[in-house]
Amino acid sequence: MATKGKVVGIVSNLVTVAVDGPVAQNEICYITTGGDRLMSEVIKVIGKNAYAQVFESTRGMKVGDEVEFAGHLLEITLGPGMLSRNYDGLQNDLDKMESVFLKRGEYTFPLDKERLWHFKPIVKTGDVLSAGRWIGEVEENHQLLKIMIPFQFNGQCTVKEIVPAGEYTVLHPIATVTDSEGNDHEITMIQRWPVKKAVTCHKEKPRPFKLLETGVRPIDTVNPIVEGGTGFIPGAFGTGKTVLQHAIAKQAEADIVIMAACGERANEVVEIFAEYPHLTDPHTGRKLSERTIIIANTSNMPVAAREASVYTAMTIAEYYRAMGLRVLLMADSTSRWAQALREMSNRLEELPGPDAFPMDLSAIIANFYARAGYVYLEDGGAGSITFIGTVSPAGGNLKEPVTENTKKVARCFYALEQERADKKRYPAVNPIDSYSKYLEYDEFQEYIATHIAPDWIEKVYELKTRMLRGKEIAEQINILGDDSVPLDYHQTFWKSELIDFVILQQDAFDAIDAVTPMERQHYMLDLILNICRKDFQFGDFVEVAEFFRKAINICKQMNYSGFQGEEFEGYVKELKELVEK
Ligand code: ADP
Ligand code: MG
Repeated sequence: MATKGKVVGIVSNLVTVAVDGPVAQNEICYITTGGDRLMSEVIKVIGKNAYAQVFESTRGMKVGDEVEFAGHLLEITLGPGMLSRNYDGLQNDLDKMESVFLKRGEYTFPLDKERLWHFKPIVKTGDVLSAGRWIGEVEENHQLLKIMIPFQFNGQCTVKEIVPAGEYTVLHPIATVTDSEGNDHEITMIQRWPVKKAVTCHKEKPRPFKLLETGVRPIDTVNPIVEGGTGFIPGAFGTGKTVLQHAIAKQAEADIVIMAACGERANEVVEIFAEYPHLTDPHTGRKLSERTIIIANTSNMPVAAREASVYTAMTIAEYYRAMGLRVLLMADSTSRWAQALREMSNRLEELPGPDAFPMDLSAIIANFYARAGYVYLEDGGAGSITFIGTVSPAGGNLKEPVTENTKKVARCFYALEQERADKKRYPAVNPIDSYSKYLEYDEFQEYIATHIAPDWIEKVYELKTRMLRGKEIAEQINILGDDSVPLDYHQTFWKSELIDFVILQQDAFDAIDAVTPMERQHYMLDLILNICRKDFQFGDFVEVAEFFRKAINICKQMNYSGFQGEEFEGYVKELKELVEK
């Protein structure tokens, strides 16, 4: 018998429920109020009282309202038919709604119940399998999806029956399996996964090592991220977090891209919905939306739904990773998620940690980032979830708890700097403070040595050193004045400006400049470093500046023209003449 209860207290979205039976932490319950049935999640249980956070407005709710407990944790429904969809944080289908705003008490089924999928079995009667193993395939948007044994199975099960290849709906039973106790279970193409804990059906989780090409130069060339890696983008309002994240989402070499728009402004979300269907994937030439799922919770949705949305997005990512796909997961912004945690914790009157965030904020963030990663699967092959989150610290203060705790766990740090954004040096990634820990990993270095170039990492460090040296000299020139520093200091400074303008700055709104393939990044890095290694003879610092301004102009035009085309080669020639003069 399901546990039942009655509302005895309401503080905003936090409802106290007197219960008549056992209730689990994080169990889902439904509160019936004024004809609506509102989904809620238990976040604390003390004695006969359960504290539930309601995923929607509690307007009009009364003491005495009936509560029914579902007997399971917050779960989502997974199966074919999710690609190109827009969901909210509870996986309601936003396309079925009139706007991005839900009607209260309305929950939609996230998949298409009627659509027929061509299912192809890959196991046969008598095969012994465990949770997560593949039993068949379905194609969706040119992507081969796997149908798996539900993760809930403990131990082994035996395939008793499996349907022949053919057209089936997601609700149609496709197999019967017998568990270790001899009970039969019917399997459909649908899985239900809990969102707040990781479902692990993989064999091994090694350190990630494969470069994930994003086409964004300050990332790929300077601070690379890897398939299954983690990174974060902190920056004050307007420094370009969303633009950078969208550039990565559009260009990165991934099979599936999941974008969690968490608590950002509603108009930005509407923009993504409007923009995405028109964009093409630079790798396949197909519609970008075919590989994308958007999870949108704007700041005007209740905090509880916002908190759930990042978990929903991560769980969808885990589902595709278990099929051997490369998933890229983006969350904008994880600060809004942390704020939702803070609001709930404050309502519960828990002892607050720094800046009133929950005491266990660091563990919550660490556990979340730990769900990303590169895995080897039981069925062979590998899958990955690369996670990149933005952090929007108030006033750009990087010493606040969300930034600090994220910094402890994310391996790549792309710090967006107000000063660079003000100077329109986009993307405003600070070249000195930002880092990628993957550059230090042996596995990654080996991968780069064989796939890009044996001396690539050395060149990257050379570039970083030159940027650092340039910055130091810029400070000296600022203090002492142009005339008071040696001429070769000017040269060193201008070399770092050349790197900055040509490699670090990239116009996200120019079709060519926005996407730089690795081959082209390699070419440009060599070109720029070769100039930097030369020792030019100048009469005075004005001459130095003039020379490098010219070089920068030519190289910037190269960035805007097709790689190695006629126009491009023209600039190569022009640059050569300038340098050899
Ligand atoms: P945030 O999300 O940090 O608040 P946005 O990503 O919305 O900031 O960026 C703010 C503005 O900065 C953009 O509207 C755009 O004009 C400019 N911008 C950011 N990155 C770039 C870029 N790479 N190229 C050109 N303009 C950019
Ligand atoms: Mg933004």
